[in-house]
Amino acid sequence: MVFLFCNLACKSTLNYMFKKGTKLYSIFKGTCPKCHEESMYTNKNPYILSEALSMNEKCSNCSTKYKIEPSFFYGAMYVSYGVGIAFAVAAFVISHFVFNASLNYLFISIVITLIAFMPIIMRVSRNIWINIFMSYDKSLAKK
Ligand SMILES: [Zn+2]
Repeated sequence: MVFLFCNLACKSTLNYMFKKGTKLYSIFKGTCPKCHEESMYTNKNPYILSEALSMNEKCSNCSTKYKIEPSFFYGAMYVSYGVGIAFAVAAFVISHFVFNASLNYLFISIVITLIAFMPIIMRVSRNIWINIFMSYDKSLAKK
């Protein structure tokens, strides 16, 4: 019963947090920050490394230009530091408290986590960076 209640509460909270129109939706889905209708990336799969960071120039729905100034996404490096730290802390907590790993294995698990999640970290950083400067505009979204 308690599990069912928690499950429902978590699901509705997640649905509310990741609803179209919220910044979290655009950040985790990689959609256009203004209309949330289409992906900013040419390939939705970040693990195809040759296309991991290749982006469309404009949104085909609302024609928002993603690169608002030259080298705009260099700023995502600052965000990427924070996102990387979050992944490293998660790897530490899981290795230390769940698997009770020794110091060497903690280090190895953090390095492997950072390498394995690098494409996701890079994309999420770019999504966060562009969502700092642009916001959802309901009038641009498809009806
Ligand atoms: Zn758009």
